[in-house]
Amino acid sequence: MFDDLRDLYQEVIFDHNRNPRNFRVMENADRQVEGFNPLCGDRLTLFLKMDGSVISDASFQGSGCAISTASVSLMTEIVKGKTEQEAEDLFEKFHEMATGKDEEVNLEAIGKLAVLAGVRDYPARVKCATLAWHTLDAALKNQAESVSTE
Ligand code: ZN
Repeated sequence: MFDDLRDLYQEVIFDHNRNPRNFRVMENADRQVEGFNPLCGDRLTLFLKMDGSVISDASFQGSGCAISTASVSLMTEIVKGKTEQEAEDLFEKFHEMATGKDEEVNLEAIGKLAVLAGVRDYPARVKCATLAWHTLDAALKNQAESVSTE
């Protein structure tokens, strides 16, 4: 990755950490799931408002490291207006990118989430980046009220 691109990515992460998007409690949420990453101590509560199979609104509360906060902030922005299936597809692509299975990151498919591609070089941080998505996955499948990365 080019150095200037990496710098840009870091700037986006810092920005989302300083000013998290959709950082609020949602009244009358249709789904509410708590996520916890014991390795780092990241905690979040994800709220979703559903319109049929479309995620009409997403927000979160919680506290965590810069990576986990930026990841959930970006995620709540990107999944708004997406169908459950589209969100699950994104989760899969994001997971492949973060765990480094997909050598060539498909930047177009992943959009803004590419700013978190750098975590693949830091295995201990992968769970910080994927916590939001595991929580989303549980919320969409209506499986659990809380998820843990361990
Ligand atoms: Zn973390």
